[in-house]
Amino acid sequence: MSSPDQGRPRAAVIGAAGRMGRSILGALAEDGELECGAAVVSPAHPWVGRRLEEVGAPGAGPIFGELAAALSGVSVIIDFTRPGVTAQVARAAAAAGLPLVTGTTGLTAEDHAALEEAAGEAAVVVAPNMSVGVAALIALVREAARKLGPGWDAEILDLHHKAKRDSPSGTAAALGEAIARVRGGALADVETLRGRGETGPRAQAELGIAALRGGDVVGEHTVFFLGAGERLELTHRATDRGIFARGAVRAARWALSAPPGLYGMADVLG
Ligand code: NAD
Repeated sequence: MSSPDQGRPRAAVIGAAGRMGRSILGALAEDGELECGAAVVSPAHPWVGRRLEEVGAPGAGPIFGELAAALSGVSVIIDFTRPGVTAQVARAAAAAGLPLVTGTTGLTAEDHAALEEAAGEAAVVVAPNMSVGVAALIALVREAARKLGPGWDAEILDLHHKAKRDSPSGTAAALGEAIARVRGGALADVETLRGRGETGPRAQAELGIAALRGGDVVGEHTVFFLGAGERLELTHRATDRGIFARGAVRAARWALSAPPGLYGMADVLG
């Protein structure tokens, strides 16, 4: 059967039944360059063995309950699953020599190690936030941290829907890391997770991160720079999961022709 889409490179979507997975299937169905070749869901999911068009998901193609079977005929992998699963995906990508885009957040040391290893075989894009607006926010935050200097207290607030599993968000951590690096350190050495209790006064070097969870908020981040007599607030609000999905598809198209290596969204956006 011939189709005008024949010959388009195909992506495997891992975590296809999740909130982001479905959104990525939608973005691929609308993309002119890349299409979905295979969807992978967790092994016990009722979609296993069926086709996307049968279960009412966007696009067309077979649905698998395990990775190995899904990768034949695929040119790139898009993963939005869970920490731990991403390490398995990275190992499968490396074994198949396929480029990989992962948006999974809260990654473990094992995930990072597997992603680094996969980056020796093909392009691997790791981005806790695939939105173009957040890439711009990170650049602006870096600039503000440089201009204001370490005398200004930096604090970050992340607000997300109630089903989000990790806290603080990967984006809050990326924003914190950007500020810590400008200040010549690492986030791990200055991060303070704000919560309840007798915390005492704030230490100068601290970088506080607070997380709020509730409702259906897609994702909001505010970086506060607090000085004496003035403050600067930089905010990004995501209202549509489609921005992350379109960013992931753009990253996947970019990864198809990128040399092996570990990349972030800034590399994709150029
Ligand atoms: P979700 O829980 O709705 O979806 C995750 C899906 O992965 C679920 O359907 C789950 O069944 C599936 N899964 C679990 N184990 C699997 C396996 N072994 N094989 C295949 N599928 C498996 O969560 P979500 O809201 O879609 O978010 C997924 C991840 O993406 C989270 O880490 C989230 O923080 C992150 N996220 C990233 C961005 C970004 O721009 N990078 C944006 C939004 C969310």
